[in-house]
Amino acid sequence: MTQEWEAGRLDSDLEGAAFDTLAVRAGQRRSPEGEHGEAMFLTSSYVFRTAADAAARFAGEVPGNVYSRYTNPTVRTFEERIAALEGAEQAVATASGMSAILAIAMSLCSAGDHVLVSRSVFGSTISLFEKYLKRFGIEVDYPALSDLAGWEAAIKPNTKLLFVESPSNPLAELVDIPALADIAHAKGALLVVDNCFCTPALQQPLKLGADIVMHSATKYIDGQGRTMGGVVAGRAEHMKEVVGFLRTAGPTLSPFNAWVMMKGLETLRVRMQAHCASALEIARWLETQPGVERVYYSGLESHPQHELAKRQQKGFGAVVSFEVKGGKEAAWRFIDATRMISITTNLGDTKTTIAHPATTSHGRLSPQERANAGIRDSLVRLAIGLEDVADLKADLERGLAAL
Ligand SMILES: *Cc1c(COP(=O)(O)O)cnc(C)c1O
Repeated sequence: MTQEWEAGRLDSDLEGAAFDTLAVRAGQRRSPEGEHGEAMFLTSSYVFRTAADAAARFAGEVPGNVYSRYTNPTVRTFEERIAALEGAEQAVATASGMSAILAIAMSLCSAGDHVLVSRSVFGSTISLFEKYLKRFGIEVDYPALSDLAGWEAAIKPNTKLLFVESPSNPLAELVDIPALADIAHAKGALLVVDNCFCTPALQQPLKLGADIVMHSATKYIDGQGRTMGGVVAGRAEHMKEVVGFLRTAGPTLSPFNAWVMMKGLETLRVRMQAHCASALEIARWLETQPGVERVYYSGLESHPQHELAKRQQKGFGAVVSFEVKGGKEAAWRFIDATRMISITTNLGDTKTTIAHPATTSHGRLSPQERANAGIRDSLVRLAIGLEDVADLKADLERGLAAL
């Protein structure tokens, strides 16, 4: 049977294919069974034809799977599909978004190196650098995200990486990625972009000049709040180091999660478009509400970086934050008055979520650190899902009525 199939066409020819086509088909290699959908290879190890075959594969003399901490066909399909969508030479999957960041730092930095991390990044990202990587002799500084002169001034001769999230969470602040890439490259440093909030459907950082892009695939790539995963993508010379760390240290992606996320990629662009359309409508509507002081969404003309967002992104994302009049008590009253929207800090789900950053995601920062990050007590963050917008507005109206 194998030979019959090998004589015919099993896989798609994707030469010159566009994003939507790659999202559905890239990375698939069909087995001799001729399955149409992607197979899930739930196996920890692989058999060898002979002892000599085993020895040759272990020695890397012949290609082939050895053990799923090293390679797995389902994980490989997910990786190749991400690489195609980000325009990367290679992608490497990880067990979570945090292990993607850990793998980048561990594989590309050494004691004595200096790293610049934007002040406006995911809380655990700051903890990873501050509490753990510093202990191993990596120096870290935290410039303000959009302040290009600040980044330039903070670079030192031993600066290895610049790490940013653009747009940032929860205030949708941006950095000009091409300009920051130029600043990094002029000093021999690499620019890493956490592209979690945009996904490659809205922003392709490598095409904007970044060297490495990474994701918490737990968010929009899964898209339905089911699994944990991450991915790193970039040039083969860097990915080789990341693979080396992962296969040795172990935070690799499970094939089951890889399958879920790979299927998530097939609907990614369509989902992101729907998320963005609803988020823009909600942001515009919130801006007209008397109880709302200020709305943070880069799709609004009132956003100071609206023009940059239009230039750099194909859409403005699904996270909409706003300040209510009346401080923390009012923010909590607003949140508690909703009856459908989920009170949770996660995002990137079909279900809309609502959270109070000052007492949850940013609760462990000192009041001064929170103020530096622009997180006021009156701030509420929404991550808009895929429910009907009229139903979302009706639920948010309960919050507005409680103010
Ligand atoms: C959630 C998140 C992470 C961490 O990802 P996990 O999958 O939870 O480990 C990193 N960066 C951003 C922007 C995130 O939102």
